[in-house]
Amino acid sequence: MNIVRNKILGCLYGQAIGDALGLGTEFMCKSKIKNIYPDGLSRYEQIHQDSHRKRWEKGAWTDDTDMMLCILKAYDGQEFNINKVAENFKGWFNGAPMGIGNNTFKVLCMSDYVEQPELCSKIMWDISRHKSAANGALMRTSVVGIPKIRTEQQAETICKLTHYDPRCIGSCVIVSLIIHNLIWNNKQLSVDEIKHIGNHYDQRIGEWIDAAYISSDISSLELDKADSVGYTLRTLSAALWAYWHASSFEDGLLSVVNEGGDADTNAAVGCAILGAKFGYSSIPSYYIDNLQSKDIYKLIIEAFVSQIL
Ligand SMILES: [Mg+2]
Repeated sequence: MNIVRNKILGCLYGQAIGDALGLGTEFMCKSKIKNIYPDGLSRYEQIHQDSHRKRWEKGAWTDDTDMMLCILKAYDGQEFNINKVAENFKGWFNGAPMGIGNNTFKVLCMSDYVEQPELCSKIMWDISRHKSAANGALMRTSVVGIPKIRTEQQAETICKLTHYDPRCIGSCVIVSLIIHNLIWNNKQLSVDEIKHIGNHYDQRIGEWIDAAYISSDISSLELDKADSVGYTLRTLSAALWAYWHASSFEDGLLSVVNEGGDADTNAAVGCAILGAKFGYSSIPSYYIDNLQSKDIYKLIIEAFVSQIL
C-alpha cells in the first residue's frame, strides 16, 4: 500500500478503534477496571454492559468519532468548509446523539448556533468564567491533520466552533500538526517543537507535554483522576504518551484503554496518532473486522481518501 494512504487509513481507523474499545473503561477508575476486567480489556466482546455502556453495541464508536465524521463530511476537495462543519454538528445534535459532552451540548443547544457558532461557543466559555477547557474538540480533531494545507488554521477554527479556551485550541493544533507531519513529511515533531506550538496558545500546556514525555509508565499520568476526567490537557497527555512511548499500535491502544478515565476519548486521540505513525497495516485485523458499522465506515473514509490522494 502507498505509504501516505497507509498512514491516513491508520489515523482514521485508529480514531474509531480507540473510541470503540475505550468505551469499555470510560469513566472507570483503575481499581474498578481491575474488578471488572481482571486480565485487562483487550477485545470488544468483553465490554461490560452496565447502564452507560449498554446503549452501544459492542465494538461501536461513540460521539468522538461521530463528530470527527461531521468534520470529514464537510471536506470540499481542498479544506473543510467551516459553515458546513457547524451545520453537520447541529444536524448530529438534532438526532439526539448518545454520549454528548456537557460543553458541546450547551453550545449546540443554542438556537442560532448554525448562523453564529463561534459566538455561541465564546458565550458558553465566558459563562464558565474561562474555566471550562473540556476535551470535546480534541476528541474529533484527528481528521483535520489529513488534508495537505492549512492544518493549523483549520484546527483552530474548528475547535472554536464549540470550545473557545486557548488550552483546547492548543491541544487541537498540536494533535492535528503531529498527524499532518507523520502523514505528509514522515516526520515526528519533537518535544521542543510541540512545546513551542503549545506556548503559542497557552503557557499552561507545557507541563502536560513534559509529563507525557518523561513518564515511561503511563500510570503516572493519573488518567483516571476524578477531578479532571474530560480535561483537554489530560487527554493531550494521554495521546502524547502513546506517541512517544507505545511500541506498537496495539501496545498504545491497550495501555491507554486500561488506564480508565475518559478512556474512549483518550484512546481515540492517541490511536489516531499511532495509526498515522505505524500505519493501517500495523493494526491487528481483529480491531478492524469487529468494529460495528465497519462497512459504512470504510465507504465514508475511502470516499474521503480518494479526494485527498
Ligand atoms: Mg465518547
